[in-house]
Amino acid sequence: MSDTPVQQEERTRTTNEVPRSMPVATDELIAFCPKCKTMETLWFSGNTLVQTRKFSQDGPHVYHDCGSDEPCRLLIRFQKPR
Ligand SMILES: [Zn+2]
Repeated sequence: MSDTPVQQEERTRTTNEVPRSMPVATDELIAFCPKCKTMETLWFSGNTLVQTRKFSQDGPHVYHDCGSDEPCRLLIRFQKPR
């Protein structure tokens, strides 16, 4: 017999500081480093790169941390037809 009353107090969370429309990583692009030929999936929320360890954003460009002077090519990921 499990007669434990479970009270869900979801409404006790008051998040005044966090806006409702938080940036969500919606755009998924492939970054191709022209120097070391690395390809990696990057996420963008709007035009801002979601922070990753290996890539840094400088304006419209994304640079790999391998020391490449050239910005990575950003490729739109192929959508798999379903
Ligand atoms: Zn690289």
